[in-house]
Amino acid sequence: MGYANATEILAAITEPGADQQVLDPATGAPVGAVRNRTVDELNDAVAAARAAQPAWDARGHEERCALLNAAADAIEENAEALAELLSREQGKPLNGPNARFEVGGSVAWLRAATAYDVEPEVVVDDGETYAVKHYRPLGVVGAIGPWNWPMMISIWQIAPSLRMGNTVVLKPSENTPLSVLALGHVLNQVLPADVLHIVPGGRDVGESLSGHPEIDKIMFTGSTPTGKAIIRSSADTVKRLTLELGGNDPGIVLEDADPQAIAQDLFWGAFINTGQTCAALKRLYVPESIYDQVCQALSEVARAMPMGVGLDENNVLGPLQNKAQYEIVSGLVQDAVSSGARVLLGANPDTEAAGYFYPTTLIADIDPQNPLVVEEQFGPALPIVKVKDVEEAIELANSLPVGLGASVWSSDKAKATEVAAQIKAGTIWVNSHGTIDPRVPFGGAKQSGYGLEFGLDGLKALAQPQIIKA
Ligand code: NAD
Repeated sequence: MGYANATEILAAITEPGADQQVLDPATGAPVGAVRNRTVDELNDAVAAARAAQPAWDARGHEERCALLNAAADAIEENAEALAELLSREQGKPLNGPNARFEVGGSVAWLRAATAYDVEPEVVVDDGETYAVKHYRPLGVVGAIGPWNWPMMISIWQIAPSLRMGNTVVLKPSENTPLSVLALGHVLNQVLPADVLHIVPGGRDVGESLSGHPEIDKIMFTGSTPTGKAIIRSSADTVKRLTLELGGNDPGIVLEDADPQAIAQDLFWGAFINTGQTCAALKRLYVPESIYDQVCQALSEVARAMPMGVGLDENNVLGPLQNKAQYEIVSGLVQDAVSSGARVLLGANPDTEAAGYFYPTTLIADIDPQNPLVVEEQFGPALPIVKVKDVEEAIELANSLPVGLGASVWSSDKAKATEVAAQIKAGTIWVNSHGTIDPRVPFGGAKQSGYGLEFGLDGLKALAQPQIIKA
């Protein structure tokens, strides 16, 4: 039997001494409270996870997969309660590609981690040499996550780690600890004791985890500056790292694209989770010949999308999750407008209203070097840059030090694919943006990180390759 709603699940996870208030970003009302852990408590969690690891490994793939699928069933039983809590803490609406979608994605990615056989691979067998590559567990995985998709990204880290026989200690973002504690609570109703520890805490806990001598690998998703700090603090113990860092994804529209046909997908590519998505479309390059039509079609779609409190079933866009992010978005848009860029929509926040709502904003006729274009805004404000041809668009797309995703929009798939091949990014989508899939490997180029998640590649990244040559 699952929890009926967020209040019930909050009651189950709230501990004595919980003194860190978590506020709803849409209303400022309290959601709940969390007890942040000390570094000593982190050390205890790591020791318990370490002690539990050999028995977890000994269960073998089949039994672990059965447990992970049972854990996915448990999420499904609690889906509405988890979505409600996620909506209240993170701000994202229940509907649209938001809270219910995120809980559904958590189930899908958890099940996908059980969908592949990871067999030993014979690399040489020539009669004289017999060499086999095995995929052994690494040991204990430390996971550190962000606040934008707190449940789904936690699953991206937890599911492949557990599947491959590792145990996990996860530190959620200090902005969204309750969602992750609730998710962990539901998973731990099914999993054996100590294979998964959720350790809420601040930067000190994150730093200790990434330098911890008893942690074998760090799965990190978050900003590029924090990723660099983690590389440094993991150096002394030569930890394995998967780093999913910040992006500033370009979208390139080709001259033959149909503005009406692509407008809806362009919108969601940019504004999914109110723009607070690593692989969202963050700068759009459009040729002069169809610039006005694209601006108009996108404005029409954007104007019709309701933004408001997440628990209201009508809304599909929500607030920024926190004040710092609100200020980043608001500052970048203000500067763009002062520089002479043209506001197509938004850019006029109601500063008296409750919550961190920033209106859906489209900015046209903007200089390609404007900070709204070249910095990661991570919010509901899309700059649309006019280009003279596709060569200029490709050059601008490749001009930044990050390269997570990108997209090319065209009525001719073959032509779009040719352009896609010239873009330096981990994933390039054609006629969509950010449409991730648990079967398709995902990871960044340049300073957007390294290592792959999802699919068979993602499972192998949570294993120590071991060669036996006989
Ligand atoms: P952040 O880097 O501020 O924080 C992420 C996590 O790191 C938090 O849990 C934080 O407590 C922890 N942390 C902070 N300092 C640390 C340190 N020195 N050592 C160890 N841990 C530390 O990121 P955020 O603001 O929560 O998330 C937004 C960013 O994440 C954006 O840049 C976005 O693009 C990126 N992101 C990337 C992906 C991806 O898959 N590439 C996915 C989601 C978000």
